[in-house]
Amino acid sequence: MGRVLIIGAGGVATVAAHKVCQNPDTFTEVMIASRTEKKCIALAEVLNKKYGTKVKTAQVDADSVEQLVKLLGSYKPDLVMNLALPYQDLTIMEACLQTGCNYLDTANYEPKDEAHFEYSWQWAYRERFEKAGLCAILGCGFDPGVTSIFTAYAAKHHFDEIQYLDIVDCNAGNHHKAFATNFNPEINIREITQKGLYWENGKYIETEPMEIHKPLTYPGIGNYPTIKRARFWMTFGQQYLTYLDVIQNIGMSRIDEVVYEAPLAEDERLEVSGERLEDTTTPKTVKVKIVPLQFLKAVLPNPQDLGENYDGETSIGCRIRGLKGGEEHTYYVYNNCSHQAAYEETGMQGVSYTTGVPAMIGAMMFLKGLWSKPGVHNVEEFDPDPFMEQLNKQGLPWHEIHDGDLEL
Ligand code: NDP
Repeated sequence: MGRVLIIGAGGVATVAAHKVCQNPDTFTEVMIASRTEKKCIALAEVLNKKYGTKVKTAQVDADSVEQLVKLLGSYKPDLVMNLALPYQDLTIMEACLQTGCNYLDTANYEPKDEAHFEYSWQWAYRERFEKAGLCAILGCGFDPGVTSIFTAYAAKHHFDEIQYLDIVDCNAGNHHKAFATNFNPEINIREITQKGLYWENGKYIETEPMEIHKPLTYPGIGNYPTIKRARFWMTFGQQYLTYLDVIQNIGMSRIDEVVYEAPLAEDERLEVSGERLEDTTTPKTVKVKIVPLQFLKAVLPNPQDLGENYDGETSIGCRIRGLKGGEEHTYYVYNNCSHQAAYEETGMQGVSYTTGVPAMIGAMMFLKGLWSKPGVHNVEEFDPDPFMEQLNKQGLPWHEIHDGDLEL
């Protein structure tokens, strides 16, 4: 039915690629392209062995529109799945426009030099995608992604008016490391050290990072004008918060460049001096600029390697209060995902799984013609029903509690 190009070969891309290969009727041709092609080749080998799929690979620097245009122009995918990093959203959207490709991602654009993310940069492309007759699907992971689709589903089937929306995101898993992030450490730490925002009575209220705490219980262990309040809650263990505090206090979460005096390797010194011994004139160090948070990423555990020893589950859902037929009702719709089950199926932990599966389903919705209007769209603008049906079939079943205590 369609040819997809996956950009990125990290945790999320790996899961999405497994799921793409599990649905060969929809995804007839697949290419994985990333900055480091050897990771794409290793992944393609695993996929070939497991599903018999012949996956093509390529090297691309997705920060370069020129390189992307070359790749997209030659492979001519029906859809580009951007599973690299939020920094690459705009270059990939630009290349899609120049080559006539449709686009999907899981995270909104964030400039490298400013820890701040919002959709306005990507919405600015709306008219160009519309005019080109191309579709861009934004934020098709779990959060954003499935939680937006849960909300659209609740609005379609269970409420005349949604008034209060709390998106609750819990990771009750244990990876048995002192400190590790569940997705790209640089992006993760930038996100959670930013100020918070929630919607109340027609305006955004700003909070300090992680200012509001509330204990909630989770089972088994948030485009709607009627909404009075919409908030997002995420669980963090005390140990994680203590480490994060230290990281911030010692300046390791900084995203500006600092000058670091790095030792030169002996052969580099030789190259400069041409002399092997007793050289006192050649400097033994060189001044380099490093971004502390990027350096920290290099020494933290790689989120892709957490899967093997990860136990427990994630639980993510929407707790909604509103009106139906003039009466107040509550509705809680959620998914629980086991880290171990995700690892056994894809070699990745639950957080990559809960993002990669929805990315594949979004791509499937596009290729089946169910979600394909020209323009730039967030997922809640499409019909939630076929997507919800696929969540149950593709490994992320969901559950509902009607008129229970929302605790919020
Ligand atoms: P990883 O860091 O594991 O993988 C990122 C991949 O992108 C790596 O393969 C990396 O290549 C590649 N990449 C980075 N820069 C470039 C570039 N300039 N050109 C080409 N390839 C590049 O991240 P995750 O898989 O954990 O996350 C992927 C995306 O999913 C992120 O945008 C993240 O924010 C989003 N996400 C969304 C969630 C949601 O619920 N909506 C939840 C979790 C994540 P290399 O291997 O060379 O470094």
